[in-house]
Amino acid sequence: LFITFEGGEGAGKSTVLSRINERLEKEGYDVLATREPGGSLIAEKIRQVILDPSHTEMDNRTEALLYAAARRQHLVETVLPHLKKGGLVLCDRFVDSSLVYQGVAREIGVEDVRKINLFATEGKLPDLTLFFDVAPEIGLARITSHDGREYNRLDRESLKFHEQVRDAYHQLHNQEPERIRMVDASYPLEKVMMETWEEIKQFIEG
Ligand code: C5P
Repeated sequence: LFITFEGGEGAGKSTVLSRINERLEKEGYDVLATREPGGSLIAEKIRQVILDPSHTEMDNRTEALLYAAARRQHLVETVLPHLKKGGLVLCDRFVDSSLVYQGVAREIGVEDVRKINLFATEGKLPDLTLFFDVAPEIGLARITSHDGREYNRLDRESLKFHEQVRDAYHQLHNQEPERIRMVDASYPLEKVMMETWEEIKQFIEG
């Protein structure tokens, strides 16, 4: 099973993912926890190109293609082999992130971004996607109060940007309510963790 974690800034998805990973491993599942962009040597190198703060001249479409390239490499090198041997993959971000960030927030258009990602993934979609929903004001406050994390993008991304991201995730959720489940991430971590665990357990055992 291929399960992805999605959401905006400070929704807690990465923390919840690592906790869920530990818990599933304890129960004996063969789990691979990974993230995008990255998750393989080549994909990590592409990640560095994307996230390098000195690359201020990065064109939006170039960025979208780099995300799709990193996704492709990570999928064939890391995700698919683990799924093939019957394992469970937990992935921090996937195609939905590009539809939202590159397609909507960076205004390339969802359909164009969907097309290049269809090419990159050959149509592979997650079996389950958890969308961690939180108001940008709350999410951003969590990040800025959390030391040691680099958020060089925060300066140039306005509150409006993050609101667009949230709205776009809501739209995807409405289009595919079966695959994309919404988790209320405004609650304290422990409660978000419990809710996520219930969704995943129900899905796996379903
Ligand atoms: O996964 P994480 O929350 O660390 O992502 C940090 C940021 O990377 C996002 O808020 C967004 O600005 C950027 N990003 C993006 N397009 C993607 C994935 C992430 O612009 N497809």
